[in-house]
Amino acid sequence: MAKIVACPNCGASSEWSPANRFRPFCSERCKMTDLGAWATERYRVPVVESDESELPDEGDNVLPN
Ligand SMILES: [Zn+2]
Repeated sequence: MAKIVACPNCGASSEWSPANRFRPFCSERCKMTDLGAWATERYRVPVVESDESELPDEGDNVLPN
């Protein structure tokens, strides 16, 4: 029988089995929600270091009008 675990996101019973692709979460939604919270809240990364030559913020402000 499959082991039942509590979904870390909503606390609902979730089946820990190969059939449950989102384990230990109960659903894809809970998995994505948790990953989102993890990415934005608990795991604050300093701004990436690759925005040096990508922003053309100096130079002409020619707008097609
Ligand atoms: Zn859930």
